[in-house]
Amino acid sequence: MSRVTRIVIVGGGPGGYEAALVAAQLGAEVTVVDRDGLGGSAVLTDCVPSKTLIATAEVMTDTAESGELGVRLGAAGADLPQDRVGVDLGKVNERVTALARAQSDDITSRLAREGVTVLPGLGRLDGPTKVVAELADGRQEVLDADAVLVATGAHPRVLPDARPDGERILTWEQVYALDHLPEHLVVVGSGVTGAEFASAYTSLGSKVTLVSSRDRVLPGEDQDAATVLEDVFRRRGMTVLSKSRATSVRRAGDSGAAVVVSLDDGRTVEGSHCLMAVGSVPNTEGLGLEQAGVRLDEGGFVEVDRVSRTSATGVYAAGDCTGVLMLASVAAMQGRIAMWHLLGDAVSPLSLRSVSSNVFTDPEIATVGWSQRDVESGETDAVMVKLPLATNARAKMQGVHDGFVKLFARPGSGTVVGGVVVAPRASELIHAVALAVDARITVDQLAHSFTIYPSISGSVAEAARQLHTRVWRA
Ligand SMILES: Cc1cc2nc3c(=O)[nH]c(=O)nc-3n(C[C@H](O)[C@H](O)[C@H](O)COP(=O)(O)OP(=O)(O)OC[C@H]3O[C@@H](n4cnc5c(N)ncnc54)[C@H](O)[C@@H]3O)c2cc1C
Repeated sequence: MSRVTRIVIVGGGPGGYEAALVAAQLGAEVTVVDRDGLGGSAVLTDCVPSKTLIATAEVMTDTAESGELGVRLGAAGADLPQDRVGVDLGKVNERVTALARAQSDDITSRLAREGVTVLPGLGRLDGPTKVVAELADGRQEVLDADAVLVATGAHPRVLPDARPDGERILTWEQVYALDHLPEHLVVVGSGVTGAEFASAYTSLGSKVTLVSSRDRVLPGEDQDAATVLEDVFRRRGMTVLSKSRATSVRRAGDSGAAVVVSLDDGRTVEGSHCLMAVGSVPNTEGLGLEQAGVRLDEGGFVEVDRVSRTSATGVYAAGDCTGVLMLASVAAMQGRIAMWHLLGDAVSPLSLRSVSSNVFTDPEIATVGWSQRDVESGETDAVMVKLPLATNARAKMQGVHDGFVKLFARPGSGTVVGGVVVAPRASELIHAVALAVDARITVDQLAHSFTIYPSISGSVAEAARQLHTRVWRA
């Protein structure tokens, strides 16, 4: 009789706990060692809290911009100023943290039900087949493993001259301790995290200055999408400082302009609070990885192949600690793939081409597949159409003025290879395009499927229809 496979997972975020569920389903004996709580940063400090905060911010924007639709706030007939709508940030953050904790508890119960052993504590490798767990209660446990999965995630990058103090100079993990809305929030960093928080706090009612070292926000995203977003940001009153690198952030007091951000051109920006969003560092130090034969790249990320194998036999890695694509959905898939591969189940190597991602700003920006940058650089061949939402009937009814649908298709065959949606709830609308990219369907097939009238998804079908002749002419 063959022995049960013993798997030890270090880190209980999406990379770790999703792998644990698959491994338990396939009959392995699974132990997860986790430091901060199941769900990891994704559930406790990053994804879940930020999107819960953003849910409140969305209601604020919708309310503030509802005048165009004939909404009057206050008693019938009264014409109250829009700025009467306010937010109780203490209450919002209470809800955010309670929801995150409840989600983590749900995951803990699920793993217990599936027979996974969870050890709260700090794990490190002692060679490729042994994990030492320093448990939260002070004990130490040494776990022998047939295979190890490293899924330890990442943490916010800290600049030496801009050290967070948890009160006025904050990382994205610390903002949920605020019980009052920052009067003036300076956000350093205009990548996805910086843009999402800048968007949310503007909607919540803070004055926001976004410091961007690049010539536009969201340098990694579709350029047209970033331009739409930057225009909306400015229209809503946000100050966007482009080509401005922050060199230091210092505390200047306890009230009013309590922080001073210095820029590389000599200017300074004063604010009540500063949020640092300048990237992430993998949690790979002190884990005994290199000693176990696990190769790290120059940024400290674990090198993995498309089935999550590291350079050490029997050691797999998943999620942010690999830096492959820092998304919860990708972490979870890397973890599952590792277990399917290890335990001999059917598995396809990770393909990033069909990963859809979303920036939860207002409007949202969702993308999948090949991008315009890929086409323009000659990396792939595609024809493109872009339809502004201003022509969409549903968008007009809803007072949606900003956004577009962009589709990319292969010349000749007409296969859909990518798309961008900039719209409210773009995260939901992108699914049709993601399905098209994944299933390699053609623009005609996409165009011929019925959409609801009126609907914003009608623009996805219309874009596909417009590509019908272009794919042949290209
Ligand atoms: C502000 C923000 C918002 C985000 N929003 C989204 C979003 O909307 N959608 C999305 O898909 N992605 C989002 N992400 C990215 C997403 O959070 C990460 O990609 C995801 O958390 C990666 O999962 P993971 O399992 O690799 O690591 P994590 O979620 O970081 O989990 C790692 C776990 O390992 C534990 N750990 C670390 N070291 C040890 C050790 N030595 N021993 C034991 N345990 C250890 C940690 O305590 C943690 O519990 C966001 C990121 C940020 C910063």
